[in-house]
Amino acid sequence: MLEKLKETLARTRKFFAPIEQLLTRNLSQEEILNELFELLILADIGPATSQKIIDGLKQKSRKSGQADLKALLKQELIDILSSEPATVNDVFPAVWLLVGVNGGGKTTSAAKLASKYQSQGKKVMLAAADTFRAAAQEQLVLWGKRLNLPVIQGQTGADPASVVYDAVQSFKARNYDLLIIDTAGRLHTYANLMSELEKIKKVINREIPGAPQEILLVLDSTIGQNAIVQAREFNRFSGLTGVFLTKLDGTARGGSVLAVVEELKLPIKFVGLGETEKDIMEFEPEAFVEALLS
Ligand code: GDP
Repeated sequence: MLEKLKETLARTRKFFAPIEQLLTRNLSQEEILNELFELLILADIGPATSQKIIDGLKQKSRKSGQADLKALLKQELIDILSSEPATVNDVFPAVWLLVGVNGGGKTTSAAKLASKYQSQGKKVMLAAADTFRAAAQEQLVLWGKRLNLPVIQGQTGADPASVVYDAVQSFKARNYDLLIIDTAGRLHTYANLMSELEKIKKVINREIPGAPQEILLVLDSTIGQNAIVQAREFNRFSGLTGVFLTKLDGTARGGSVLAVVEELKLPIKFVGLGETEKDIMEFEPEAFVEALLS
């Protein structure tokens, strides 16, 4: 798993190699920390989170008296990434909602989650609640065929909440374990989008108390710090339980993961590592940090 992660993070690792080199240089700790700040910014970690890392590192070094800055840095990064509880709420039956802007990887991520839990023996159903884009529905239907699982969809232009209602009825009637709902990522304004998502959530919760058990924000890691801006908009929608961070394989901006957790106070639960249904991992802070700095 570590090897796969390292390979996936190859482009991001290029920005962490200079950090590793710096930590072994024969400089004073103050000089190292000053340079480290610049390198963290270059690695797309963002100023606020970079500063937090420097402060944490100073504190750890003072407390422990330890001079191994690399070990301390690893621990600091793990502490930040573990600061939000990232355990997946995998009680079944469950309804999971995926939200996020178009192109971020929602449909692909829905298929990945479906495949993952299907391979664990769960009966999984998909619903296409993006009734604005016929193409989005078609894509999910294609995934359904490939994975051999049912996809509930509505007429183009139909009320997404009514498609979700139908999907939940079918889910209950057929005694499935997991319903994964793909939603629209584009409306004229975020306010409209958020109120639509609230309505969908209300419908689910009315039909199945306690659901949706997971509301995952799908974020594209290749857009780096812009992911934070996007996520702030979606954080206005109540009840996000975590992030599905996509396209880590294609990006040099994997460092933005740290800013996502630190600034949004949202745990990363899953990462996408490629375009097939198998390219998914549950996020583990220790493994991630080890892959970046080893
Ligand atoms: P949606 O509009 O949010 O539903 O996004 P899609 O699921 O259609 O994905 C947009 C594009 O990103 C597609 O070309 C996907 O194959 C690609 N994609 C999604 N996840 C990943 C990933 O983890 N890695 C890579 N390399 N590509 C991905």
